This record gives sequence, C-alpha cells and structure tokens, in this order.
Amino acid sequence: MTRETKETKEHKTIPSGSTIGILGGGQLGRMMTLAGTNLGYRFVTLDPTPQSPCGQVARQIVAAYHDQDAARKLAEVSDVITYEFENVDAQVAELLEQSSYVPQGSKLLYTTQHRIREKQAIEAAGVKVAPYAVIQNVQDLRSAVDELGLPSVLKTATGGYDGKGQWVIRSEQEIEPAFAQLSQGGTELVLEQFIPFIKELSVIAARNPQGEISTFPVAENIHINNILHTSIVPARVSENILEKANALAVNLAESLGMVGLLAVELFLTEAGELYVNELAPRPHNSGHYTMEACTTSQFEQHVRAICNLPLGEATLLTPVVMVNVLGEHVEEVQARLLTGKWLPEDGHPIDTEYAEHAEHAEHAEIILDDVVPKVHLYGKEGTAPKRKMGHINLLCKDVEAALLWIQQTNIWRNQNQ
Ligand code: AMP
Repeated sequence: MTRETKETKEHKTIPSGSTIGILGGGQLGRMMTLAGTNLGYRFVTLDPTPQSPCGQVARQIVAAYHDQDAARKLAEVSDVITYEFENVDAQVAELLEQSSYVPQGSKLLYTTQHRIREKQAIEAAGVKVAPYAVIQNVQDLRSAVDELGLPSVLKTATGGYDGKGQWVIRSEQEIEPAFAQLSQGGTELVLEQFIPFIKELSVIAARNPQGEISTFPVAENIHINNILHTSIVPARVSENILEKANALAVNLAESLGMVGLLAVELFLTEAGELYVNELAPRPHNSGHYTMEACTTSQFEQHVRAICNLPLGEATLLTPVVMVNVLGEHVEEVQARLLTGKWLPEDGHPIDTEYAEHAEHAEHAEIILDDVVPKVHLYGKEGTAPKRKMGHINLLCKDVEAALLWIQQTNIWRNQNQ
C-alpha cells in the first residue's frame, strides 16, 4: 500500500448509516452498539457464543475469534472494524487490516497485548511504570527479586486479566513455585516492583484520526480480589493529581498515535507519584460511569473516534459511583429491580459502624434518598461467581452517600472497603 493511500485511509470518515463490525460480542460491544445505534450506525459482531450480549442487539456471525473465514465475512459486511478486547489473534488482525478498514490499527494491539512491549511504549512517552525486569528463567527471577525487593509481582507478559496470570512474591521461598506456575503457559514473564499505592485511578482518552483528543474525568477505582468493584467520580484526590493524570493520558494518546479509546490504569503513591499499571485500547469497565454521568459516554466517544466524527463533550454532569454486578450479585439485583426497593424499609443504616465513618452519616436517610441507581444488565445466559453480569451507576450529590447506599443494600456484603 502506498503512503498516499494509507494517509487517505487513515483519515476516512464513516458516515451514519454505515456498518460497524465488532470483533467480540461481550458487554463492551453491546454497549458500543447501543450508543452507536443512536447515531444511526448498524452493527455486526463476531463471537463464538450464539446470542452473545452484543449479538442480542446487533447482527452476529457465530464463529471462533481466530476463524479467518469468519473474519473475512465480517470484513465484507463492515465499513469499519473495531474490537472489544485486546487479545485479538495477530493473523486475524492482519487479515482484517488488509481486507477492511481498521482505524485503530494492529500496532496498538501488538503493543498492549504484551506487558513488556506496553511498558517500553509507556516509558518511551516519558511516563513512569513500576520498575520491572524481564524474566526468562528462574535465575533471572532470583536476581530481579534481589534488585527490586520483596514483595514484588510476577506477571505473564500475555493473556493475564483481572489478576489472573500473576503472583505476588512475598518471600524467597515463593520464587520457585511462582516461576513454575506462571511459566507453564510458555509466555515471557515480567517482575514488577510492588508499588505501595494509596489509590488506584484510571483515565480514558479518546483520539480521532484527525488528532483531536478528549479525556474523561479521572476515576478512583476500588478492586476486590483483583476485580473492579467500584469506580468513584470525582476521584477523591487533589486537583494537582487530577491534572497530572489527565496530562499523562493525553501524552500517551498522542505518543501512541492511537485512534479510538485508550484506558490508562494508574497507581497513586503517598508521595503523589503516578505509575501506569496497564493500558487497554478499548472502552473500559472503569469508564462505565460515563453512560449517565457524562455528556458523552465512553461508548459513543469510541464510535465517534473510529468514525472520525468530532469528539463529544466529556463533561461530568453529576457525581457518580459505578458498582459492578458480578454473578453472585445478579439475582438480588434483578429482584430489587422488580420491586424498586433497594434499601431496607426502615431506611436506617444496617451497619452503623460504616455509617459513622461516612461523611454526613447523621443525615444518612436523606442522603440515601438522593442516590439514583441506573441499572445495566448485560443479558448473559449463564451466571458464575465473579463473572461480570452488569453494573449500576449511582448518580448522587455526594459520592460518600452512594458508597453508603452500596453498603445499605446489603447486596455486596463483605465486599465494601
Ligand atoms: P493487573 O492485572 O496488572 O491489572 O493487576 C491487578 C491488580 O493487582 C491491580 O489492580 C493492583 O491492585 C494489583 N497490582 C498489580 N501490579 C501491582 C504492582 N506492581 N504493585 C502493587 N499492586 C499491583
């Protein structure tokens, strides 16, 4: 392909009425479809599970992600192609790029699919990651532990998510078992210094092919068992940290020359330092709060970016807390959705100790009345513990009230921090 045609392709604008093909049929594709349908786009998804969350709201090609014939079929019927997960098979990504228009390109996928390449790209942008070492064998691991200290975190370079494919090494005795377990998959490993963070934050940046960049407000994220539990917005950090996090995301978006969305997960330390933990080149769970709380949702912004439309305003309309609905919560959430009764009848805090700590606890009842739950369920057929089944955006006047609301519903028992 000549440079000139490539340039033209890079700036292609996809008008409303066109068809967007999504590789992957999970909840991210579903919410992207719902948002893009409002702008008049049509959607087709490729996913192996019939009636996938996205396949319930879009046309679906039922096939494995690595099925090249199916990928070709997706390319044929789509004016533009995007993906909702980063572990896209390299050959499929290449095939799609050749036979269709993939504005996000395979380069960013190549980078973010692999922790070591990702760290190098982040550092090349002048942004900090936790000090790390590449591990090929157990001797490498021993010397890296000596250098980086304990505890430290051993991770597989590829394929890990929600804490899978990682081991926090706390003693020398764990070096061998950690290496033995994580090297099973045959992928490279990386050892990271353990960052004693005080908060985890994330920022989502959007960029269109013309180079316009927009960021969403910074989210403060609480994970439980390595799975996102809540995103709190505005994040309870200083203005200076918010500005730093935002600038860092803009810098990465520019430096990577990405198109679409880039979610940047960050660790904040006591000293006010920010380290990038991970990047995701797609809509992100920590951006679900934007659906009702921002003037443009992350899903609409993604569609705008890949179609080369002007990006939407991404202003925060209200404080919000997003809480994830996992397999173990979904039945109760569905039951409360039917009755509309989320809180105990008497309206009194169940856990008075928590209430005492919550800001304005003396007005808990009034505050809780101000919390408006907006429920999103993904239509997944089978539930399993820890499986992401939906989320609730709690629109509120004060994020402490929404956190108290979560406690009071008793749905996420033993999960509040
Ligand atoms: P990850 O799969 O890399 O997103 O890691 C999952 C979770 O493990 C993070 O959200 C952190 O809570 C924790 N974690 C990962 N890496 C580190 C690190 N280098 N230092 C401290 N905590 C970490």
